[in-house]
Amino acid sequence: MDTAEIVGVGSELISGETLDTNTADVARSLRPYALDVWRTLRVADNPDRIAETARELWADTRLLVFLGGLGPTPDDVTTAAVAGGLGLELAEDPQMLARIARRFERLGRRMNDHNRKQAQKPDRARWLDNPRGTAPGWWLREEGRDLVVLPGPPAEWKPMWERLLPQLDLPESGKVRRQIKTFGLGESQIMERIAGIWNEGVTSGIYAHPDGVYLTAAGHPEPVNRWIAEVSHRLAEYVWGYDADTLPGLVQDRLQRRAATVAAMESLTGGLLASLLTTLPGSSQSFLGGMVSYSMGAKARFGVPADTLTAQGAVSAGTAAAMAQAARRELNATYGLATTGVAGPDELEGHPVGTVYVGLAGPEGTRTKLHRFPPLGREAVRLRAAYAALALFWSQLQ
Ligand code: ATP
Ligand code: MG
Repeated sequence: MDTAEIVGVGSELISGETLDTNTADVARSLRPYALDVWRTLRVADNPDRIAETARELWADTRLLVFLGGLGPTPDDVTTAAVAGGLGLELAEDPQMLARIARRFERLGRRMNDHNRKQAQKPDRARWLDNPRGTAPGWWLREEGRDLVVLPGPPAEWKPMWERLLPQLDLPESGKVRRQIKTFGLGESQIMERIAGIWNEGVTSGIYAHPDGVYLTAAGHPEPVNRWIAEVSHRLAEYVWGYDADTLPGLVQDRLQRRAATVAAMESLTGGLLASLLTTLPGSSQSFLGGMVSYSMGAKARFGVPADTLTAQGAVSAGTAAAMAQAARRELNATYGLATTGVAGPDELEGHPVGTVYVGLAGPEGTRTKLHRFPPLGREAVRLRAAYAALALFWSQLQ
């Protein structure tokens, strides 16, 4: 299979100052095509290294994409270096120069000599218009192969790439990639449950995320859909969604269809649950608000009965239930959601790190669920606890 090579340009990508998301985003956009993306690269703002990289990769690939380093500062050298590496003559385009000048005029800024280089591209290349920035990209097609150079800021290159992609005439793979999203089972428990499922023609993978374990399947639609159906069947109530589904999205959608509302009371998640419930536009229609009741005093103050707290402790099913009921009552919501548990690093009330109770109170009654998450650090435990509350809620709403 032909390959695609994707290169992020920038010293800050190598030092870790900027996390390179660009190359992965381009790789993801190439999934529907029959191109092998078996690596992505990052290269420093060094003209010789960029030139060398361009020369090596262009020798044997169907598609070569560079991102970053098209700006006006002296360390932005991508165009000159790539052209140099491939022996392409650069030329200044007077029309582009005039356009860049006009843009500066509109912004009330003076154009300097560094900005001029943004009007240069190899003779035979075509400009890729950048409506959101000053640096245009360029595209060179040679003997059925494509070289594409894009600016670094995602908000700039993404619309440019989206417009260009269909014009590249890349071979389509006819393959699809689907996902099943689960919560509540570990990877090994999942593997046990799906053992022996027929999987010819399906490349599958299993990945842990804060919102649960995802299973992915790639291949032609027929076997993939069959595999997805069989795996869904085996994992039953642990499956909460597919493909682009998100827990906050599903919950919000269902609440709004029922004209129902939710309020939260959070201990160890410290507002993360409320944050997830406000991820999407329109969340104010269903999410009323939340309380962070971190201390015993705050829990009591917000309506958790003192004897529940003393008899059962802060980390308990009884407290999770009382917190959910209090959130529901205090904010007059259809549902109340609650989280309490041990984020770590130290254990609490004799419970190990990762012990989490989530609670849900609603017209159907009150439910709680105990999770024992692995002690992967405070952030991981807290985020999982917030998603655990949403997963419990979603199972009730379904
Ligand atoms: P500019 O005109 O903004 O300088 P540029 O094409 O020169 O555009 P860079 O200077 O390489 O782009 O990067 C500008 C910004 O774009 C970076 O500060 C960073 O926020 C973002 N960026 C660049 N490369 C990447 C990357 N590989 N992944 C994610 N973000 C990136
Ligand atoms: Mg720059």
